[in-house]
Amino acid sequence: MFTRPVWVEISRQKLTQNLTRLRALAGGRAGVMAVVKANAYGHGLMQCAPLVIAAGADWIGITSVDEGVRARAMSLDPPILIMSGVWRGEAEAALEHALTPVVWEHFHLDLLEAAAQKLGLRGGSVPVHLEIDTGMSRQGVRFTRPPGDTEGSAALRGILERFHSGSALRLEGIMTHFSAPEVLDDAHPPSQIGFFAEALRVAYAMGLRPQWVSAGNSATLLAGRDIASLQSLADTIGARLLLRPGLSLYGYPPRFTGEVDLDRLHQVLTWKTRVTSLREIGAGESAGYNSTFRTDRKSRLALLPCGYADGVNRLLSNRGSVLVRGQRATIAGRVSMDQTIIDVTDLREVEIGDEVVLIGSQGGLSITAYEIADQIGTIPYEVLCGINQRVPRVLVD
Ligand SMILES: *Cc1c(COP(=O)(O)O)cnc(C)c1O
Repeated sequence: MFTRPVWVEISRQKLTQNLTRLRALAGGRAGVMAVVKANAYGHGLMQCAPLVIAAGADWIGITSVDEGVRARAMSLDPPILIMSGVWRGEAEAALEHALTPVVWEHFHLDLLEAAAQKLGLRGGSVPVHLEIDTGMSRQGVRFTRPPGDTEGSAALRGILERFHSGSALRLEGIMTHFSAPEVLDDAHPPSQIGFFAEALRVAYAMGLRPQWVSAGNSATLLAGRDIASLQSLADTIGARLLLRPGLSLYGYPPRFTGEVDLDRLHQVLTWKTRVTSLREIGAGESAGYNSTFRTDRKSRLALLPCGYADGVNRLLSNRGSVLVRGQRATIAGRVSMDQTIIDVTDLREVEIGDEVVLIGSQGGLSITAYEIADQIGTIPYEVLCGINQRVPRVLVD
């Protein structure tokens, strides 16, 4: 139950349609991992995970064992990839809940071997995915040099050797992550795919037969141009390709300037609140902390019961807008921790109780996470993840 009039609505239909569309783009043979990390990009893990699974996601991807345990507690069957590796003290929980960790450090394998032994799991019964760092320089076994480079391949071989016949661990997948996720017309560095291909070749030559080859996010899937080459990489080693869309699942394709038909993705989230108080102030008066908003006419201000503690970014002060009565109203003065004031001087009909849209559509207008991202100098990912956990997520339609 929630009483404070600040909430997020998640459209079941739109999320389901987006997943269906992304599966079609992936092609019949590739699998799709629905990335639901960071509380499903702010949309609510509990609300979204069961829907994407029902809609046919082959995997779900998250970035902490905690989230994995929560997802598993919902009795969700599909495999869950922990894309962030495992930290000390997490390996047992990961295995007990049948979560599949991404690994790249030797200590990840040590932790998992020890946990497997403790739980009596042996003989390759613990699947893991190995990440290759092909140039993102963030996580994964570094492998970014030309074929024949001994140092890079020694590190890779060293970790691949850990999957010997006596190990409890099984190399179920090999993955990489591309460094150009946010813009569709920014091609993935061809070298990243090349290094990935070479790493797969090394693993194959060592007799390893991973079932999944996993690469590509929303931008890869929507731009499409790299899917065929990734598919053929998977084919050469007899594995299945796994694509990992996140942002696009929620109806926000990364931006592009090319000719890609994206009209069938729908924004899943609407963030709403209500007008909880109204007042009139005179010309020359001010509103909010530090009086940064000053009137030049008699003005009407409305109060919204949410602020930066909810994820209304403070950089939207005197800049951002919201929708009320099907029209735009701008934020007046500084966004407070739990309150925001809007200027409704030209919207005489606004009353206490009116529904206000912070992100989403109302009447014919809409405010998207792209717009807010531009106003505050960030990307839609951060805007969506920024909606605080204390805001309830409610499933609709
Ligand atoms: C977040 C993430 C994705 C999804 O990226 P989007 O740009 O949101 O589609 C895929 N793979 C990995 C490893 C990630 O961390």
